[in-house]
Amino acid sequence: MTTVIESQEHQALRAAVSSFARSHTTGDNRAFWQEAAKLGYIGVNLPEAYGGGGGGITELCLVLEEMGAAGNPLLMMIVSPAICGTVIARFGTGAQKREWLPALADGSRLMAFGITEPDAGSNSHRITTTARRDGTDWLLTGRKVFVSGVDMADATLVVGRTEDARTGRLKPCLFIVPRDTPGFERRQIDMELDAAEKQFELTLDDVRLPAEALVGEEDAGLLQLFAGLNPERIMTAAFAIGMGRHALSRAVEYARDRTVWKTPIGAHQAIAHPLAQAHIDLELARLMMQKAAHLYDAGDDIGAGEAANMAKYAAGEACVKAVDQAVHTLGGNGLTREFGLARLITAARVARIAPVSREMILNYVSHQTLGLPKSY
Ligand SMILES: Cc1cc2nc3c(=O)[nH]c(=O)nc-3n(C[C@H](O)[C@H](O)[C@H](O)COP(=O)(O)OP(=O)(O)OC[C@H]3O[C@@H](n4cnc5c(N)ncnc54)[C@H](O)[C@@H]3O)c2cc1C
Repeated sequence: MTTVIESQEHQALRAAVSSFARSHTTGDNRAFWQEAAKLGYIGVNLPEAYGGGGGGITELCLVLEEMGAAGNPLLMMIVSPAICGTVIARFGTGAQKREWLPALADGSRLMAFGITEPDAGSNSHRITTTARRDGTDWLLTGRKVFVSGVDMADATLVVGRTEDARTGRLKPCLFIVPRDTPGFERRQIDMELDAAEKQFELTLDDVRLPAEALVGEEDAGLLQLFAGLNPERIMTAAFAIGMGRHALSRAVEYARDRTVWKTPIGAHQAIAHPLAQAHIDLELARLMMQKAAHLYDAGDDIGAGEAANMAKYAAGEACVKAVDQAVHTLGGNGLTREFGLARLITAARVARIAPVSREMILNYVSHQTLGLPKSY
Protein backbone atom coordinates (compact mmCIF):
# COMPACT_ATOMS: atom_id res chain seq x y z
CA MET A 1 0.00 0.00 0.00
CA THR A 2 1.31 3.43 -0.85
CA THR A 3 1.24 5.97 1.95
CA VAL A 4 -0.05 9.34 0.87
CA ILE A 5 0.04 12.66 2.66
CA GLU A 6 -3.08 13.85 0.93
CA SER A 7 -6.47 12.20 1.51
CA GLN A 8 -8.30 10.50 -1.35
CA GLU A 9 -10.86 13.31 -1.28
CA HIS A 10 -8.12 15.89 -1.73
CA GLN A 11 -6.49 13.93 -4.53
CA ALA A 12 -9.86 13.63 -6.26
CA LEU A 13 -10.49 17.38 -5.83
CA ARG A 14 -7.04 18.11 -7.25
CA ALA A 15 -7.71 15.92 -10.30
CA ALA A 16 -11.17 17.38 -10.88
CA VAL A 17 -10.01 21.01 -10.63
CA SER A 18 -7.04 20.30 -12.86
CA SER A 19 -9.14 18.78 -15.62
CA PHE A 20 -11.75 21.56 -15.32
CA ALA A 21 -9.12 24.34 -15.45
CA ARG A 22 -7.31 22.73 -18.39
CA SER A 23 -10.53 22.53 -20.38
CA HIS A 24 -11.18 26.26 -19.98
CA THR A 25 -9.72 28.00 -22.99
CA THR A 26 -12.03 30.95 -23.71
CA GLY A 27 -10.08 33.55 -21.73
CA ASP A 28 -13.36 34.83 -20.26
CA ASN A 29 -12.30 35.26 -16.65
CA ARG A 30 -15.76 36.03 -15.26
CA ALA A 31 -17.37 33.02 -16.97
CA PHE A 32 -14.56 30.81 -15.66
CA TRP A 33 -15.12 32.19 -12.15
CA GLN A 34 -18.84 31.47 -12.33
CA GLU A 35 -18.40 27.95 -13.69
CA ALA A 36 -15.82 27.23 -10.98
CA ALA A 37 -18.26 28.56 -8.38
CA LYS A 38 -21.07 26.35 -9.69
CA LEU A 39 -18.82 23.34 -9.23
CA GLY A 40 -18.26 24.40 -5.62
CA TYR A 41 -14.61 25.39 -6.05
CA ILE A 42 -14.78 29.10 -5.20
CA GLY A 43 -16.72 28.66 -1.96
CA VAL A 44 -15.13 25.37 -0.92
CA ASN A 45 -13.89 26.99 2.34
CA LEU A 46 -17.15 28.74 3.24
CA PRO A 47 -19.65 27.30 5.73
CA GLU A 48 -22.17 24.83 4.38
CA ALA A 49 -24.96 26.66 6.16
CA TYR A 50 -24.31 29.57 3.77
CA GLY A 51 -23.94 27.62 0.56
CA GLY A 52 -20.24 26.86 0.85
CA GLY A 53 -18.43 23.55 0.77
CA GLY A 54 -17.68 23.43 4.49
CA GLY A 55 -13.96 22.91 3.89
CA GLY A 56 -11.08 25.15 4.82
CA ILE A 57 -8.09 27.01 3.43
CA THR A 58 -6.52 23.59 2.80
CA GLU A 59 -9.09 22.88 0.10
CA LEU A 60 -9.18 26.44 -1.21
CA CYS A 61 -5.42 26.61 -1.72
CA LEU A 62 -5.49 23.23 -3.40
CA VAL A 63 -8.06 24.58 -5.89
CA LEU A 64 -6.04 27.72 -6.64
CA GLU A 65 -2.79 25.78 -7.02
CA GLU A 66 -4.32 23.40 -9.56
CA MET A 67 -5.88 26.25 -11.53
CA GLY A 68 -2.48 27.94 -11.67
CA ALA A 69 -0.73 24.72 -12.66
CA ALA A 70 -3.22 24.46 -15.52
CA GLY A 71 -2.27 27.99 -16.60
CA ASN A 72 -5.58 29.47 -15.47
CA PRO A 73 -5.16 31.01 -12.02
CA LEU A 74 -7.92 33.12 -10.48
CA LEU A 75 -6.13 35.86 -8.52
CA MET A 76 -9.36 37.06 -6.90
CA MET A 77 -9.64 33.75 -5.03
CA ILE A 78 -6.91 35.12 -2.78
CA VAL A 79 -9.22 37.96 -1.89
CA SER A 80 -12.91 37.15 -2.29
CA PRO A 81 -13.40 33.75 -0.63
CA ALA A 82 -10.08 33.59 1.28
CA ILE A 83 -9.89 37.00 2.97
CA CYS A 84 -13.38 38.47 2.72
CA GLY A 85 -15.29 35.19 2.98
CA THR A 86 -13.23 34.07 5.97
CA VAL A 87 -13.51 37.37 7.83
CA ILE A 88 -17.27 37.57 7.30
CA ALA A 89 -17.80 33.89 8.17
CA ARG A 90 -15.77 34.22 11.37
CA PHE A 91 -16.71 37.70 12.55
CA GLY A 92 -19.55 39.12 10.44
CA THR A 93 -23.00 39.82 11.81
CA GLY A 94 -25.83 37.42 10.95
CA ALA A 95 -27.09 39.88 8.34
CA GLN A 96 -23.63 40.21 6.73
CA LYS A 97 -23.28 36.44 6.56
CA ARG A 98 -26.69 36.05 4.96
CA GLU A 99 -26.09 38.85 2.50
CA TRP A 100 -22.57 37.94 1.39
CA LEU A 101 -21.59 34.32 1.98
CA PRO A 102 -24.07 32.54 -0.33
CA ALA A 103 -23.31 35.08 -3.08
CA LEU A 104 -19.54 34.78 -2.67
CA ALA A 105 -19.87 30.99 -2.75
CA ASP A 106 -22.13 30.76 -5.82
CA GLY A 107 -20.02 33.23 -7.79
CA SER A 108 -22.75 35.82 -8.25
CA ARG A 109 -20.83 38.39 -6.19
CA LEU A 110 -17.18 39.18 -5.56
CA MET A 111 -15.44 41.21 -2.90
CA ALA A 112 -12.09 43.02 -3.14
CA PHE A 113 -9.83 43.87 -0.19
CA GLY A 114 -8.04 47.17 0.38
CA ILE A 115 -5.40 47.65 3.04
CA THR A 116 -2.32 49.07 1.24
CA GLU A 117 -1.92 52.84 1.37
CA PRO A 118 0.46 55.04 -0.61
CA ASP A 119 2.11 56.54 2.50
CA ALA A 120 2.10 53.39 4.63
CA GLY A 121 3.11 50.57 2.24
CA SER A 122 4.53 47.62 4.18
CA ASN A 123 3.99 49.46 7.45
CA SER A 124 0.28 48.89 8.00
CA HIS A 125 0.56 50.50 11.44
CA ARG A 126 0.71 53.78 9.53
CA ILE A 127 -2.56 53.46 7.67
CA THR A 128 -4.60 56.64 7.98
CA THR A 129 -7.91 55.81 6.31
CA THR A 130 -10.18 57.05 9.05
CA ALA A 131 -13.73 56.22 10.08
CA ARG A 132 -15.67 58.88 11.96
CA ARG A 133 -19.15 58.52 13.37
CA ASP A 134 -21.96 60.71 12.11
CA GLY A 135 -25.11 59.76 13.98
CA THR A 136 -25.42 56.03 13.42
CA ASP A 137 -23.54 56.25 10.12
CA TRP A 138 -19.82 56.12 9.47
CA LEU A 139 -17.87 58.53 7.28
CA LEU A 140 -14.78 56.94 5.76
CA THR A 141 -11.93 59.04 4.35
CA GLY A 142 -8.55 58.00 2.99
CA ARG A 143 -6.57 56.54 0.10
CA LYS A 144 -5.66 53.02 -0.92
CA VAL A 145 -3.36 51.76 -3.62
CA PHE A 146 -2.78 48.57 -5.65
CA VAL A 147 -6.17 47.16 -4.74
CA SER A 148 -6.96 44.29 -7.12
CA GLY A 149 -10.25 43.70 -8.91
CA VAL A 150 -12.24 46.69 -7.59
CA ASP A 151 -13.97 46.94 -10.97
CA MET A 152 -15.07 43.28 -10.89
CA ALA A 153 -16.01 43.31 -7.23
CA ASP A 154 -19.46 44.27 -5.96
CA ALA A 155 -17.84 45.71 -2.85
CA THR A 156 -14.43 46.24 -1.28
CA LEU A 157 -13.56 45.27 2.26
CA VAL A 158 -11.67 48.40 3.34
CA VAL A 159 -9.33 48.45 6.32
CA GLY A 160 -9.50 51.73 8.21
CA ARG A 161 -9.09 52.90 11.76
CA THR A 162 -11.48 54.75 13.99
CA GLU A 163 -10.88 58.43 14.69
CA ASP A 164 -10.00 57.89 18.34
CA ALA A 165 -7.39 55.34 17.28
CA ARG A 166 -5.57 57.54 14.82
CA THR A 167 -2.40 57.53 16.85
CA GLY A 168 -0.68 54.77 18.77
CA ARG A 169 -1.06 51.10 18.04
CA LEU A 170 -3.02 49.97 15.05
CA LYS A 171 -6.66 49.50 15.93
CA PRO A 172 -8.14 48.62 12.58
CA CYS A 173 -11.77 48.36 11.67
CA LEU A 174 -13.13 46.75 8.54
CA PHE A 175 -15.91 48.15 6.36
CA ILE A 176 -17.81 46.69 3.44
CA VAL A 177 -17.95 49.46 0.82
CA PRO A 178 -20.26 48.76 -2.17
CA ARG A 179 -18.64 49.66 -5.51
CA ASP A 180 -20.96 52.52 -6.42
CA THR A 181 -21.07 54.29 -3.06
CA PRO A 182 -20.82 58.09 -3.56
CA GLY A 183 -17.33 59.38 -2.73
CA PHE A 184 -15.70 56.00 -3.41
CA GLU A 185 -13.57 56.64 -6.51
CA ARG A 186 -11.17 54.34 -8.31
CA ARG A 187 -8.40 54.95 -10.82
CA GLN A 188 -6.79 52.06 -12.66
CA ILE A 189 -3.02 51.82 -12.21
CA ASP A 190 -1.07 51.16 -15.39
CA MET A 191 0.67 47.93 -14.39
CA GLU A 192 3.09 45.91 -16.56
CA LEU A 193 1.04 42.81 -15.85
CA ASP A 194 -0.80 40.73 -18.41
CA ALA A 195 -3.74 39.66 -16.25
CA ALA A 196 -7.53 39.88 -16.18
CA GLU A 197 -7.40 41.44 -12.70
CA LYS A 198 -6.47 45.11 -12.63
CA GLN A 199 -5.06 47.16 -9.75
CA PHE A 200 -6.61 50.41 -8.57
CA GLU A 201 -5.88 53.47 -6.55
CA LEU A 202 -8.89 54.32 -4.39
CA THR A 203 -9.96 57.65 -2.99
CA LEU A 204 -12.53 57.69 -0.21
CA ASP A 205 -13.90 61.12 0.42
CA ASP A 206 -16.35 61.16 3.33
CA VAL A 207 -17.88 57.93 2.10
CA ARG A 208 -21.13 57.57 4.05
CA LEU A 209 -21.79 54.05 5.25
CA PRO A 210 -24.57 52.69 7.44
CA ALA A 211 -23.69 51.18 10.83
CA GLU A 212 -24.18 47.71 9.28
CA ALA A 213 -21.18 48.26 6.98
CA LEU A 214 -18.79 47.71 9.89
CA VAL A 215 -17.74 44.07 9.99
CA GLY A 216 -18.30 42.52 13.38
CA GLU A 217 -17.18 44.50 16.39
CA GLU A 218 -15.37 47.82 16.39
CA ASP A 219 -12.91 46.55 19.00
CA ALA A 220 -12.13 43.18 17.42
CA GLY A 221 -10.54 44.65 14.30
CA LEU A 222 -6.99 43.39 14.79
CA LEU A 223 -8.10 39.82 15.37
CA GLN A 224 -10.39 40.03 12.33
CA LEU A 225 -7.65 41.46 10.19
CA PHE A 226 -5.22 38.67 10.97
CA ALA A 227 -7.94 36.10 10.46
CA GLY A 228 -7.96 37.36 6.86
CA LEU A 229 -4.25 38.02 6.34
CA ASN A 230 -3.09 34.48 7.09
CA PRO A 231 -5.37 32.93 4.42
CA GLU A 232 -4.17 35.66 2.05
CA ARG A 233 -0.55 34.58 2.53
CA ILE A 234 -1.35 30.88 2.21
CA MET A 235 -3.36 31.54 -0.95
CA THR A 236 -0.57 33.66 -2.42
CA ALA A 237 1.71 30.68 -1.85
CA ALA A 238 -0.79 28.53 -3.77
CA PHE A 239 -0.90 31.10 -6.57
CA ALA A 240 2.90 31.09 -6.79
CA ILE A 241 3.27 27.30 -6.64
CA GLY A 242 0.64 26.88 -9.35
CA MET A 243 2.38 29.39 -11.60
CA GLY A 244 5.78 27.79 -10.95
CA ARG A 245 4.43 24.31 -11.75
CA HIS A 246 2.86 25.61 -14.94
CA ALA A 247 6.11 27.21 -16.13
CA LEU A 248 8.15 24.17 -15.15
CA SER A 249 5.90 21.73 -17.00
CA ARG A 250 6.14 23.81 -20.18
CA ALA A 251 9.92 23.83 -19.88
CA VAL A 252 10.19 20.10 -19.20
CA GLU A 253 7.99 19.29 -22.18
CA TYR A 254 10.15 21.52 -24.38
CA ALA A 255 13.45 20.15 -23.05
CA ARG A 256 12.37 16.58 -23.78
CA ASP A 257 11.86 17.30 -27.48
CA ARG A 258 14.08 20.13 -28.55
CA THR A 259 17.23 18.76 -30.16
CA VAL A 260 20.02 21.00 -31.45
CA TRP A 261 22.97 18.58 -31.15
CA LYS A 262 22.67 14.81 -30.88
CA THR A 263 20.32 14.64 -27.88
CA PRO A 264 17.35 16.62 -26.63
CA ILE A 265 18.49 19.66 -24.61
CA GLY A 266 16.98 18.07 -21.48
CA ALA A 267 19.82 15.53 -21.52
CA HIS A 268 22.30 18.31 -20.71
CA GLN A 269 22.62 18.60 -16.97
CA ALA A 270 23.01 22.37 -17.30
CA ILE A 271 19.36 22.33 -18.41
CA ALA A 272 18.08 19.37 -16.39
CA HIS A 273 19.51 20.17 -12.96
CA PRO A 274 18.08 23.65 -12.56
CA LEU A 275 14.68 22.24 -13.59
CA ALA A 276 15.06 19.48 -11.00
CA GLN A 277 16.00 22.08 -8.38
CA ALA A 278 12.99 24.20 -9.31
CA HIS A 279 10.77 21.14 -8.88
CA ILE A 280 12.26 20.38 -5.44
CA ASP A 281 11.80 24.00 -4.33
CA LEU A 282 8.16 24.00 -5.43
CA GLU A 283 7.49 20.71 -3.63
CA LEU A 284 9.09 22.06 -0.43
CA ALA A 285 7.08 25.25 -0.64
CA ARG A 286 3.93 23.21 -1.07
CA LEU A 287 4.67 21.23 2.08
CA MET A 288 4.99 24.46 4.05
CA MET A 289 1.80 25.77 2.48
CA GLN A 290 -0.02 22.59 3.53
CA LYS A 291 1.35 22.96 7.06
CA ALA A 292 0.17 26.57 7.24
CA ALA A 293 -3.27 25.69 5.88
CA HIS A 294 -3.55 22.77 8.29
CA LEU A 295 -2.67 24.96 11.29
CA TYR A 296 -5.07 27.66 10.17
CA ASP A 297 -7.94 25.22 9.65
CA ALA A 298 -7.23 23.70 13.05
CA GLY A 299 -7.78 27.13 14.62
CA ASP A 300 -4.15 27.84 15.53
CA ASP A 301 -3.95 31.46 14.32
CA ILE A 302 -0.55 32.08 15.94
CA GLY A 303 1.11 28.93 14.59
CA ALA A 304 -0.49 29.54 11.22
CA GLY A 305 0.94 33.07 11.14
CA GLU A 306 4.55 31.91 11.17
CA ALA A 307 3.93 29.05 8.75
CA ALA A 308 1.90 31.24 6.38
CA ASN A 309 4.73 33.76 6.21
CA MET A 310 7.30 31.04 5.56
CA ALA A 311 5.10 29.36 2.95
CA LYS A 312 4.55 32.65 1.13
CA TYR A 313 8.28 33.36 1.18
CA ALA A 314 9.28 29.88 -0.01
CA ALA A 315 6.62 29.81 -2.72
CA GLY A 316 7.47 33.29 -4.01
CA GLU A 317 11.16 32.41 -4.30
CA ALA A 318 10.44 29.00 -5.87
CA CYS A 319 8.05 30.58 -8.38
CA VAL A 320 10.48 33.29 -9.49
CA LYS A 321 13.25 30.69 -9.92
CA ALA A 322 11.02 28.22 -11.79
CA VAL A 323 9.76 30.88 -14.19
CA ASP A 324 13.24 32.23 -14.81
CA GLN A 325 14.62 28.77 -15.55
CA ALA A 326 11.62 27.87 -17.71
CA VAL A 327 12.13 30.96 -19.87
CA HIS A 328 15.82 30.16 -20.19
CA THR A 329 15.13 26.55 -21.16
CA LEU A 330 13.12 27.68 -24.18
CA GLY A 331 15.90 29.91 -25.51
CA GLY A 332 14.42 32.44 -27.92
CA ASN A 333 11.04 30.80 -27.67
CA GLY A 334 11.04 31.68 -23.98
CA LEU A 335 10.45 35.25 -25.02
CA THR A 336 7.80 34.69 -27.68
CA ARG A 337 4.16 35.39 -27.05
CA GLU A 338 3.27 32.00 -28.52
CA PHE A 339 4.87 30.06 -25.66
CA GLY A 340 3.43 32.39 -23.05
CA LEU A 341 6.30 32.21 -20.56
CA ALA A 342 7.84 35.67 -20.78
CA ARG A 343 4.70 37.29 -19.36
CA LEU A 344 5.16 35.17 -16.24
CA ILE A 345 8.45 36.92 -15.47
CA THR A 346 6.54 39.96 -14.24
CA ALA A 347 3.66 37.94 -12.81
CA ALA A 348 6.03 35.80 -10.73
CA ARG A 349 7.47 38.90 -9.06
CA VAL A 350 4.07 39.69 -7.58
CA ALA A 351 4.44 36.76 -5.20
CA ARG A 352 7.68 38.27 -3.90
CA ILE A 353 6.16 41.69 -3.28
CA ALA A 354 2.55 41.05 -2.27
CA PRO A 355 0.78 40.81 0.07
CA VAL A 356 3.84 41.12 2.24
CA SER A 357 7.31 41.45 0.76
CA ARG A 358 10.07 38.91 1.21
CA GLU A 359 12.05 41.39 3.35
CA MET A 360 9.13 41.86 5.74
CA ILE A 361 8.87 38.08 6.09
CA LEU A 362 12.60 37.86 6.77
CA ASN A 363 12.10 40.62 9.36
CA TYR A 364 9.27 38.64 10.93
CA VAL A 365 11.28 35.42 11.11
CA SER A 366 14.35 37.28 12.44
CA HIS A 367 12.38 38.91 15.25
CA GLN A 368 9.53 36.57 16.03
CA THR A 369 11.09 33.20 15.36
CA LEU A 370 14.76 33.79 16.07
CA GLY A 371 14.37 36.53 18.67
CA LEU A 372 16.89 38.86 17.01
CA PRO A 373 16.67 42.61 17.70
CA LYS A 374 14.63 44.85 15.43
CA SER A 375 16.34 47.36 13.13
CA TYR A 376 13.39 49.54 12.17
C1 LIG B 1 -0.21 42.85 -8.46
C2 LIG B 1 -0.45 43.39 -7.08
C3 LIG B 1 -1.69 43.22 -6.49
C4 LIG B 1 -1.96 43.76 -5.24
N1 LIG B 1 -3.22 43.62 -4.72
C5 LIG B 1 -3.52 44.22 -3.54
C6 LIG B 1 -4.85 44.19 -3.03
O1 LIG B 1 -5.75 43.57 -3.62
N2 LIG B 1 -5.11 44.86 -1.88
C7 LIG B 1 -4.15 45.54 -1.20
O2 LIG B 1 -4.46 46.13 -0.17
N3 LIG B 1 -2.87 45.60 -1.65
C8 LIG B 1 -2.54 44.96 -2.81
N4 LIG B 1 -1.25 45.01 -3.29
C9 LIG B 1 -0.24 45.80 -2.57
C10 LIG B 1 0.86 44.97 -1.91
O3 LIG B 1 0.35 44.29 -0.80
C11 LIG B 1 2.00 45.94 -1.58
O4 LIG B 1 2.60 46.32 -2.80
C12 LIG B 1 3.01 45.35 -0.63
O5 LIG B 1 2.45 45.21 0.64
C13 LIG B 1 4.28 46.20 -0.52
O6 LIG B 1 3.96 47.52 -0.22
P1 LIG B 1 4.58 48.72 -1.10
O7 LIG B 1 4.34 48.39 -2.54
O8 LIG B 1 4.08 50.02 -0.58
O9 LIG B 1 6.15 48.63 -0.87
P2 LIG B 1 7.03 49.36 0.26
O10 LIG B 1 6.45 49.12 1.60
O11 LIG B 1 7.27 50.76 -0.17
O12 LIG B 1 8.38 48.55 0.15
C14 LIG B 1 9.32 48.74 -0.91
C15 LIG B 1 10.52 47.84 -0.69
O13 LIG B 1 11.15 48.16 0.55
C16 LIG B 1 11.27 47.01 1.35
N5 LIG B 1 11.10 47.36 2.77
C17 LIG B 1 10.15 48.14 3.35
N6 LIG B 1 10.32 48.19 4.68
C18 LIG B 1 11.39 47.42 4.97
C19 LIG B 1 12.06 47.05 6.18
N7 LIG B 1 11.66 47.48 7.36
N8 LIG B 1 13.14 46.22 6.08
C20 LIG B 1 13.56 45.76 4.87
N9 LIG B 1 12.97 46.07 3.71
C21 LIG B 1 11.90 46.87 3.75
C22 LIG B 1 10.17 46.08 0.88
O14 LIG B 1 10.48 44.73 1.15
C23 LIG B 1 10.14 46.35 -0.61
O15 LIG B 1 11.10 45.57 -1.28
C24 LIG B 1 -0.95 44.46 -4.55
C25 LIG B 1 0.31 44.62 -5.13
C26 LIG B 1 0.58 44.08 -6.37
C27 LIG B 1 1.94 44.28 -6.98
